[in-house]
Amino acid sequence: SVNSSGSISVSPHGLETLPHQEIDLMKVVKKVSEPKSLGGLGLPLPLIVRLPDILKNRLESLQSAFDSAIQSQSYGSHYQGVYPVKCNQDRYMVEDIVEFGTPYRFGLEAGSKPELLLAMTCLCKGNPEALLICNGYKDAEYISLALAARKLALNTVIVLEQEEELDLVIEMSKKLAVRPVIGMRAKLRTKHAGHFGATSGEKGKFGLNTMQILRVAKKLEQTGMLDCLQLLHFHIGSQIPTTSLLADGVGEATQIYCELVRLGADMRVIDVGGGLGIDYDGSQSPDSDNSVGYGLEEYASAVVQSIQNACDRKFVKHPVICSESGRALVSHHSVLIFEAVSASAPVAPTMDSLGLGLDYLADGLTDESLSDYRNLTAAAARGDFETCLVYADQLKQRCVDQFKEGSLSLEYLASIDNISELVSKAIGTSDPVRTYHVNLSVFTSVPDFWGIGQQFPIVPIQRLDEKPVVKGVLSDLTCDSDGKVDRFIGGETSLPLHELVGEAGILGSGGGAGYYLGMFLGGAYQEALGGLHNLFGGPSVVRVSQSDGPHSFAVTRAAPGLSCGEVLRVMQHEPEMMFETLKHRVEECVHGVDSDDDELARDTLVSGLARSFHNMPYLANTATAAS
Ligand code: PLP
Repeated sequence: SVNSSGSISVSPHGLETLPHQEIDLMKVVKKVSEPKSLGGLGLPLPLIVRLPDILKNRLESLQSAFDSAIQSQSYGSHYQGVYPVKCNQDRYMVEDIVEFGTPYRFGLEAGSKPELLLAMTCLCKGNPEALLICNGYKDAEYISLALAARKLALNTVIVLEQEEELDLVIEMSKKLAVRPVIGMRAKLRTKHAGHFGATSGEKGKFGLNTMQILRVAKKLEQTGMLDCLQLLHFHIGSQIPTTSLLADGVGEATQIYCELVRLGADMRVIDVGGGLGIDYDGSQSPDSDNSVGYGLEEYASAVVQSIQNACDRKFVKHPVICSESGRALVSHHSVLIFEAVSASAPVAPTMDSLGLGLDYLADGLTDESLSDYRNLTAAAARGDFETCLVYADQLKQRCVDQFKEGSLSLEYLASIDNISELVSKAIGTSDPVRTYHVNLSVFTSVPDFWGIGQQFPIVPIQRLDEKPVVKGVLSDLTCDSDGKVDRFIGGETSLPLHELVGEAGILGSGGGAGYYLGMFLGGAYQEALGGLHNLFGGPSVVRVSQSDGPHSFAVTRAAPGLSCGEVLRVMQHEPEMMFETLKHRVEECVHGVDSDDDELARDTLVSGLARSFHNMPYLANTATAAS
């Protein structure tokens, strides 16, 4: 919500809770970015603020949606979810999920060997009944790791993604003398038409088709291991648009589940995968690419009802319901905060600003250009702006040609651009949208915007008691034309923003005062998918919990993003050696008379170089620049 200071504040326990406590995001930014000497943490922006209270609320809301559906429909088993760590593998966040989920037997899902290692470690502190679902393509090492997890008394299920994995599971489990629990990922015929539906349907990339499912069951029977087959999994894609599609998929999967029961498998769990969607654009519309047409309750109810109906028809015992909701669990828990450091100047060109008079201008033009120029001024005198525009465009093109061939100076060309801009402005065709330069990399922090056109709510986090009078797009720090955010929720091509305080076009003009924007709902996928384009490392990260202190929040963990040295190391450079090389070069270049001055110059250069390796790649924000 917007508080009385006009800033965005977060109320993790809802606005109705009394006494009402809120976390003012501007106070968090101040605390985090102010220098240590002023009582701050001295961390640079951009900043990810993690809110564990929100994470807890999401997990409990998901659990309670299923608990209510199960109770109201008299379903004969329980729900125990898992969190797919691929959505965000941050250690402290996964540890929070395990802790908050312990009362509910909430587990984890892994899709690769490192994810499995982290899930195993985190679950050592979790509920022993919590599931550890092993998805993804597997080799012998992955399978032996999953079998080791079972030996460590973790409730591990190896979910076959491909038929060939079965031979490895049989062989390795015999070798390691572990009785595995096996699941199968079914390739359903139910297909989801949205962006994420490409993985579903008969031609989908993942899972076993009907023939393969039957062959796996047969082989397990032949090897005396059919009792090991206990779980059926499917995933029809992220952001499932409607509950009717969901019910269709769950119904189909439950039929397969019941058939496996009939074939003698010791089936216990149906794992409905991810896909529980969230409403990024507020439309709650299944027709929007950025929303879905249901909430948590409707989702849970559709899942429970579909499983129950199918099982009851076949007199099959109701299975434990597992879901792998990632996006719906973690998207809300973090806010990305970044600063607008400058904005393009408002469109108001004047001839005087370049010190060039129109008469002077007329002198340097060819006859054709001169005639365009005269027609232009005559049309302007008549107030015929449409004609003005025609001549202005023609004049501009001729002058560009003249410039290219070397017969027009840079000052002339600038003046012609200026005239053309003035005419556009006069007839209202000039682009009123301004570019705000933000201290951020879209590729690192909002990769889904760049990669798949996903939209996120972006809003200034302060001055919200003041009307935003400027239309702006956001341009990031990378040297890449895709590094911008210029499409916004609701089909808008600009964002309502405030005028920056201070002089435009100068670093830190948002500055002294600071102009901060927040991107919300980016807690899933963005951090892990983000790349290192232009070697911008990750933002600083803080964990902020609600507390009874004076600010009603406490920063319980704080870490800067990768330094220049660390990000260089990712690409195989060796910062220590680089520093030594450059230091050596300083000694070679700054010498001569061995005076005190030389020594001072060398020391200054060397310590400057050392700082450059140590500091972050982003623009130093005004608060920390001084420190
Ligand atoms: N499980 C599997 C197998 C997935 O591939 C995914 C993501 O695509 C998920 C779970 C998480 O999906 P979501 O974030 O939509 O809940």
